[in-house]
This record gives sequence, C-alpha cells and structure tokens, in this order.
Amino acid sequence: MSSHASGGNRLWQITSTRGGSKLSCQRAPELIEPYIDGELGPLQAAEVERHLDECDYCNLRYRNQLTLRSTLKDESLYYRAPQDLQKRIRGSLRKEMNFMQRAVNRKDADDAETKQR
Ligand SMILES: [Zn+2]
Repeated sequence: MSSHASGGNRLWQITSTRGGSKLSCQRAPELIEPYIDGELGPLQAAEVERHLDECDYCNLRYRNQLTLRSTLKDESLYYRAPQDLQKRIRGSLRKEMNFMQRAVNRKDADDAETKQR
C-alpha cells in the first residue's frame, strides 16, 4: 500500500521537474473529469490538454477515466435499451396475439355458423 503511494509521488516529482506546465499533477485529476464532460473553459481545457501531453501519469489517469466512462455508458445503454425494447415488443406482441386470437375465434365462429346454415 505504501509502495503504491510513494510510486505515485515519485512520478509526480519527475513530471513536475520536467514540464513548465501551470497545471500540477495534484490538480490535474480534479480537472480531468470536467474536462471529459466538456465543462471546462477553453483556457482550462487547453491547460489540461497540455498537461496530458506532457505527463504520462495523468495521461494514463485520463485514459482510464475515458475507458471507465465508455464502459459505464455502454453498460447503461446495454441494460436500458433491451428493457424498453422488450416491454414494447412484448406489448405489441400481446396486442397482435390478442388480435389474431380474436380473428381466429371469429373465423371459427363464422365457419361454425356457415356450417350450421
Ligand atoms: Zn500529471
């Protein structure tokens, strides 16, 4: 657990000495989410983009966040769509079945009537 934390810290020190970016690795993660959401102003977005360009560590976080989001989005779409679709299909199917059943019943009744005549 402690080795993970020190690893992140080491990365932060490397990147903070390397770049002339205004954005720090401590602040960048806070801006990654709103950046993905498109909630940042053009200047802030440009800062985030520049930092992601310079910093592998934050770039990785950014890509992880993107992957996570697209996965979540896919899943919610995957689960929501079929439920709606199923309900609609089942509803229209039932209506159609009822209609066909009634038509068949009527046809049988008609046949029986014509036979009786
Ligand atoms: Zn960074």
